[in-house]
Amino acid sequence: MERTLEALVGRAVDAWIAWLPRWKPATHRTRTRLCRRCIGSPFLAAAGLDGDVPHAVQHALTTRMKGIIDTVVDDYTEHNLPLLAKELRETEKRKELSYRPEVGLDPEFDGLQLDPDPVPGEPFLFTLGELAEDGGVPESLRPIELSEEEKQALRTEIRLADECADHAGRLVCLALQEHRMRAREAVQRIIEPQVDAMLDALSESLDMPPTRW
Ligand SMILES: [Zn+2]
Repeated sequence: MERTLEALVGRAVDAWIAWLPRWKPATHRTRTRLCRRCIGSPFLAAAGLDGDVPHAVQHALTTRMKGIIDTVVDDYTEHNLPLLAKELRETEKRKELSYRPEVGLDPEFDGLQLDPDPVPGEPFLFTLGELAEDGGVPESLRPIELSEEEKQALRTEIRLADECADHAGRLVCLALQEHRMRAREAVQRIIEPQVDAMLDALSESLDMPPTRW
């Protein structure tokens, strides 16, 4: 697993660096809640990007790492945890029948808040979150009650899947440390000049003397 993970992490860092030039400083408020995926992320610490780096840049990396771990855990589940695999397949089937705006997004947008925070007195006609909740699921695909024994076996499999995710997470962090230098260098070269230019423009507009007529 270690070899494969190292290669996957290397390719994901390549893809992230290739994406960096597309990043633009946000000129409007796009997100108000803290991002649970990025705050305190061990991936960002391992890559040396937990300091003063724009959130969108961090998020594009953490999401790619999460994708790698999801793939490893899915594969392990499929091959070693039959009950959990069945349960997940059935949940997936049910979800396919509903509208899911959060699925199939580019890594830069995955896991972010779907709808902006509501402004008091300005209701939305509808939100993406509400649309997603509305999907009708036929009776034949509703979950079946499990016996106590099945529940216990499923809990064991869930614990094993968690352990697999934890192990993969540690290996991903180790592999990421190898890319610290080039990740930092890419941010300094591609992102920081844009941030500096934005701050300069901002301080210039603040310093401008008031117009006298
Ligand atoms: Zn984030």
